[in-house]
Amino acid sequence: MPHVADDGTELFEVGEEVVGHFRCADCDLLVKSPAEADGILVLGACPLCKAEEWRRVG
Ligand SMILES: [Zn+2]
Repeated sequence: MPHVADDGTELFEVGEEVVGHFRCADCDLLVKSPAEADGILVLGACPLCKAEEWRRVG
C-alpha cells in the first residue's frame, strides 16, 4: 500500500505492483508500466540513484 509523505505525495515502494507513470522520489526518473502483462509494473529500485520510493505522476 502506498503511504503519504508530509507534503501529501503518495509514495510507492519497491516490490509494489502498479499501473501508470511514476517518478523516482529522489531523482525524478520516469518509469511507465508496460503495455503487456496487463499493464502491471513491479517497482524496482531506481536504476539511476537506487532509491526505493516512487511517486505517481498525474
Ligand atoms: Zn532515482
